[in-house]
Amino acid sequence: MSVLVQSGSGLPLQFARLLMDWQRLHGRSGLPWQGTRDPYRVWLSEVMLQQTQVSTVLAYFPRFLERFPTVQALASASADQVMALWAGLGYYSRARNLHRCAQAVVAEHGGVFPNSASVLQTLPGIGASTAAAIAAFCHGERVSIVDGNVRRVLSRLLAFDGDLAKTAPQRELWTLAQAMLPVEPLPDDMTAYTQGLMDLGATLCLRSRPQCERCPVQAICRAHESNTVLNYPVKTRTLKRRHESWWLLLLRESAAVGGGRIWLVQRPSPGIWAGLYCPPVFDSEAALIGALPAPWRKSLRELEPVAHSLTHRELRLHPLLLVVDAAGAEPLGMEGAWIADEALHLYGLPAPVRVLLRPWLQSQQP
Ligand code: SF4
Repeated sequence: MSVLVQSGSGLPLQFARLLMDWQRLHGRSGLPWQGTRDPYRVWLSEVMLQQTQVSTVLAYFPRFLERFPTVQALASASADQVMALWAGLGYYSRARNLHRCAQAVVAEHGGVFPNSASVLQTLPGIGASTAAAIAAFCHGERVSIVDGNVRRVLSRLLAFDGDLAKTAPQRELWTLAQAMLPVEPLPDDMTAYTQGLMDLGATLCLRSRPQCERCPVQAICRAHESNTVLNYPVKTRTLKRRHESWWLLLLRESAAVGGGRIWLVQRPSPGIWAGLYCPPVFDSEAALIGALPAPWRKSLRELEPVAHSLTHRELRLHPLLLVVDAAGAEPLGMEGAWIADEALHLYGLPAPVRVLLRPWLQSQQP
């Protein structure tokens, strides 16, 4: 069933008014990326907040800004510096795109982010929703964000039953989102409306336990009225995760030789953890053992496996520790380099690798 909503008619007018009033009184405020019209800060926070909780971003955002206070500073950094600072936030393609985007802003737009959502979308890693957030927050453009939280809010509010796993219903919901925007917004209205949509999705219109009794738009919510809230959003395709095991060689330099170094390899691109640093990975224990000179094999020590979830995979990491003479380790024929413990924090390490290297990681980062 398609849903009819006319911009400027009763429902959108009521929704925008209720949402903005609620956001101004009860919405989230005081987050370090709020209260600014600086596109660099808004963009950085929007990218960090994709797939990552606010509490985690709160630790990374100030550190990132301190190191790269401007888009020019970020553009001129090396990829390794950016990845090192991003390490632990996951979804590393975001960091690679962040870096490329900063370089494009500097090279193609004179270091100034474009004003409109349509031009922002042409930059690397900036999708429709991120572009809308930057344009609405920084320039008051009348354009709607439609991320996962907002899709949930609007599909419930409108009892929109199109299958959001498919492109046509996604487009239809986008059109509806545009129709719900405030008409002729005052200067701060688009900020309150956009932030209100985000806050409602993140704090009340929750996936499995929506707090309808506290919701400012309960009186006009069609799913609530028909007691069908948990039927929305409709999405038929479910994500299938593949299970995979990796064996990681934690090759340590013997303390007697100098100590305090570990062998790391830069992950190939494209692929999982592309560009980050990791101990050598093997797809079986036999392959790992086979890569070692025979006299070393008896010194291998198995450590506790670590489980790690990626979007499409469940990884099980099996670490095997081997302490060797550095001089003897070089001819192994493996690509990589010895990294001193005190320098480990300068390298982009995937979150589970940070866990494995914790005994040696002398980092300032979490
Ligand atoms: Fe979501 Fe419930 Fe509010 Fe409707 S009433 S928008 S379902 S929280």
